Amino acid sequence: MNILVINCGSSSIKYQLFEIKKKVPLAKGLIEEIGKVNSFQTHWIGKRIIKKKGKIVHYQQGLERILDFLTDKDNGLIKDTSEISAVGHRVVHGGEKYFEPILINDKVMETIRSYIFLAPLHNYPNLMGIEAARSLLAGVPQVAVFDTAFHQTLSPKVFLYALPYEYYEKYRIRRYGFHGTSHRYVAYEAAKILKKPLKDLRIITCHLGNGCSIAAIDKGKSIDTSMGFTPLEGLVMGTRCGDIDAAAVLFLMRKEKLEINQMDNILNKQSGLLGISGLSNDLREIQREAQKGNQRAKLALEIFIYRVKKYIGAYSAILGGLDVLVFTAGIGENQPHVRSRICQGLGFLEIYLDERENKTPSKSARLISAETSPGKILVIPTNEEAIIAHETWQVVRRLVAR
Ligand code: AMP
Repeated sequence: MNILVINCGSSSIKYQLFEIKKKVPLAKGLIEEIGKVNSFQTHWIGKRIIKKKGKIVHYQQGLERILDFLTDKDNGLIKDTSEISAVGHRVVHGGEKYFEPILINDKVMETIRSYIFLAPLHNYPNLMGIEAARSLLAGVPQVAVFDTAFHQTLSPKVFLYALPYEYYEKYRIRRYGFHGTSHRYVAYEAAKILKKPLKDLRIITCHLGNGCSIAAIDKGKSIDTSMGFTPLEGLVMGTRCGDIDAAAVLFLMRKEKLEINQMDNILNKQSGLLGISGLSNDLREIQREAQKGNQRAKLALEIFIYRVKKYIGAYSAILGGLDVLVFTAGIGENQPHVRSRICQGLGFLEIYLDERENKTPSKSARLISAETSPGKILVIPTNEEAIIAHETWQVVRRLVAR
């Protein structure tokens, strides 16, 4: 049973093909610069990489190239597209409607379209990907898996901003939260690893990658999360600033005579680790430079760690304590030094790191808290595409079972 997972960005398509019983994809790839003179295709089958160039005008053509590649006589993995049982689409914004993955039909398409105004850079290409897949793989069930869905359990006191209420009514301005697929997955995995029911656990999940967010999960439900109306709010990220006084933005726009697009670019693309260090959005490089004594790199690292810790404190307060702290994504999984610094001084929450376990390199899910620690700390690798494949299969299986 093969599931194709598609993730369309503003000028790119990422894909992975899964055999549903395996966690590692059979093949994966990326098409970049769609619509430009030279589009780049990169496909991986195991460790083999195949690269191609050539103009790809639109998403449908991009998906055609992907299907050509997968069914290629020499390099392909499947005989023809009938071997694809379902398609899972990453859709960034499910607005206030979707709490879980859903089988796509015309009505669902319409709803996703109606949320383009909330996430134009994401939902529009997501929709293009769905249209292309529906047309090229007619009859194959298509499932939308939303980044926002897991956080739809937030209560109004958590999701509303203290703006005039009419702006919520008029434009649905509120906290939505993102990375939901990842937060949900690692929370469920944590309960499985600890052999405890989710309903007995107060969990904080830290998704620390190029984009970063943190979530407070009570009895399996997201009750607060750091990303807000857009993925800009909250933690310091690779190039996004996270929390900021909105008045600072207005001040900068006036002083520097900035257009909206310029300000948007500063907040989303030039801030965060990159903005503070002036070096890079990649934490590995920041760390290398900090070790050499670069003061701005050190500062970027300090601010990054401080912000995560501050949220852990706040979320422990609203959860009324903390049973499990989970680290995931590029930084969360691979940076023991950052984990160690974040966990320092959390003894008041009865949560203690085992420094040796923390430093032991491993690619699998593992417990890194001290044996005697009442609160548990876990590293759980996330793989959003694998989760989307799994959730797609759950929806499709329910359908077959009916
Ligand atoms: P992601 O968005 O999840 O791919 O995470 C990207 C961030 O994770 C970057 O800041 C990287 O520095 C960091 N990262 C990714 N892989 C590693 C690794 N193997 N070792 C250390 N840091 C890593």
